Amino acid sequence: MQPLMTFAGNPLDRVAIERRNPVWLERQLADPEARFLPLWKLDPLVKLGEQRTLAWARRKLFDDVEPAPQPLLLGVDAGVAHFSVDVSALHEPIATLGLDGVARFEELRGVVPHLTPAEVSIVAHARSLSDWHERHRHCPGCGGDTIAVLGGAQRRCPDCSADHFPRTEPVAIAVVGRGDRCLLGRGPSWPENMYSALAGFVEPGETLEEAVRREVREESGVVIGAVRYLRSQPWPFPSSLMLGCVADAETEELEIDHTELADARWFSLEEIRLALAGEPAPLFIPPPFAIAHHLIQAWAEGRERGRRGP
Ligand SMILES: [Zn+2]
Repeated sequence: MQPLMTFAGNPLDRVAIERRNPVWLERQLADPEARFLPLWKLDPLVKLGEQRTLAWARRKLFDDVEPAPQPLLLGVDAGVAHFSVDVSALHEPIATLGLDGVARFEELRGVVPHLTPAEVSIVAHARSLSDWHERHRHCPGCGGDTIAVLGGAQRRCPDCSADHFPRTEPVAIAVVGRGDRCLLGRGPSWPENMYSALAGFVEPGETLEEAVRREVREESGVVIGAVRYLRSQPWPFPSSLMLGCVADAETEELEIDHTELADARWFSLEEIRLALAGEPAPLFIPPPFAIAHHLIQAWAEGRERGRRGP
């Protein structure tokens, strides 16, 4: 088994059937054991102290909060409902909730190394869902006010009866190989010498493979042949699904689109090996936190197997 991707492996049961029942939902909300994760501007509440953990709260924490925040049901674990609660409307959330010295809201990227993989995956879900609700308070069909239904698994427009479903944006991300060389690029605002797999949103009417070919061609000028899907990763910034591929280049000449990329280069297998090992190299690559690291590693391992022969 491959190691779990960061943000994947959410242990909560999303209870698609049970959440259709309003009586069941009310019972979960009223359950004194139910757990509520506050989010402020998409940052999760984290307990202070040596061992940082998510600061799950009881519902009574929000009793006096105005305007009353709406809990979103993330799922159930061991019979206990887990909700997220967006308190972004509060100007001083820690003081208002009485949590000075107890907990604070932390930016997700910074807190990932301190939380368990399960906690990280739950925050990813909460964050993407919360962001979607915030952006869909009005119906894209008629402009009416929408309401959350099914514990937050959908929004409904009472004016035109349209149902709206949380969106995930598919992103094609690919390591491009040609023999023992691999094509990586760097964004304009990235740290110096950091290179990664090329990526872009899948556009309407495209397959994943077509998106990889188009993105790589647009950004680097390289023509792609075969594209192989490897694995995916939820990317909650705010709501993408990274679809990781390895692609075979049919050409080598670079024609870089400098509005998208500061640079793109072919790197040797040796250079990639050094970068993967964290040793001095002409480039460094994203950490294992990101799917790009695993795609680059998969390409390098594939080449090494190829060199050793069948
Ligand atoms: Zn509507």
